[in-house]
Amino acid sequence: MERNTLTQKTSLQLGEFDIIAAYFKDLTDQSGVALGIGDDAAIIDLPLQSKIQLVVASDTLVDGVHFPSDASAYQIAQRALCVNLSDMAAMAATPRWFTLALTLPKEKANRQWLKDFSMGLAEVALEYNCALIGGDTTAGPLSITITMLGEVPVGAGLARSGATTGDGVYVTGFLGDGAAGLLAITKIDSFKNKPKIVSERLLDLFYKPLPQIIAALKIRHLASACIDISDGLVADLGHICRSSGVAASVDTAMLPIHPDLQENFQDQCHDWALFGGDDYQLCFTVPAADLSIVDDWIYQGELDATRIGVILSFSDNNPAVLIDGFKSLERLRGFDHFIP
Ligand code: ADP
Ligand code: MG
Repeated sequence: MERNTLTQKTSLQLGEFDIIAAYFKDLTDQSGVALGIGDDAAIIDLPLQSKIQLVVASDTLVDGVHFPSDASAYQIAQRALCVNLSDMAAMAATPRWFTLALTLPKEKANRQWLKDFSMGLAEVALEYNCALIGGDTTAGPLSITITMLGEVPVGAGLARSGATTGDGVYVTGFLGDGAAGLLAITKIDSFKNKPKIVSERLLDLFYKPLPQIIAALKIRHLASACIDISDGLVADLGHICRSSGVAASVDTAMLPIHPDLQENFQDQCHDWALFGGDDYQLCFTVPAADLSIVDDWIYQGELDATRIGVILSFSDNNPAVLIDGFKSLERLRGFDHFIP
């Protein structure tokens, strides 16, 4: 599309095609790609007798909504790719390829910004072994849309809908760091009497969440349902419940909360772990018969996860997610872009 692109330029400005050629075309190794950046679309080789399924997800990050306007290009790129990788983890897919639709204000279309952005992107792409294969570049308010393609063996993908009564509920990593990270961005004063390392860890995690691909592949053949926690544990476990037609009970004493949060934010950290967003950990369920296998992996240090609850049958008394036996309906909704 030609209108409103960055193409009309003065000699000092970078045009759309300069940007693509300099910062995106050779960003990553194009493995499995028959035709990469430079044509009207990319072509991907799939095995002839395909025993894999493609898994596709998109996420958009908007300036001032998903990251603060003073975030660096490097940080924005890393967060954009990581949140998309987290969707692959939720499906237990191996990430392979992605496209990047970049809308960029003209004042940011300079070499330094683009160099930092493409470096942030390249580092995460290398770490998670996925390749940039195409995209679009336009001028306008800063927004980044990544479409990620991954693969799973046929039938091995995890959905939200497979949980049944008696399943154990697990989460990976720590909860509440995302909400605490947001506080570090919006109200750094709340950290003024705390060790600097506390806010540093949270800010690092906010800009580079840790997509749980390895954990997802480990639990793939055992888990009955899975979701990544972007809107808060209770909201996202609620999605599993609604998709599966079940309820769930969470034991707050079991919530994995980082010692930094327990020590410095005693009063808030449980609320953050339950209702805060942006953690990008996984919440998954495991049938009763396999709980001992997963618990053993955790015990042996092969899986960084915690059993926090159990799936219940759905009823008037158990309408969704119960927290220590209490209904959580009033706060179940999580974050919604369109409802204040
Ligand atoms: P068209 O006008 O046919 O849509 P474009 O001129 O937008 O094609 O893009 C030219 C090539 O550059 C295409 O292969 C496209 O996928 C790629 N491309 C454009 N923007 C990006 C980007 N931000 N990152 C990666 N590839 C891009
Ligand atoms: Mg285009």
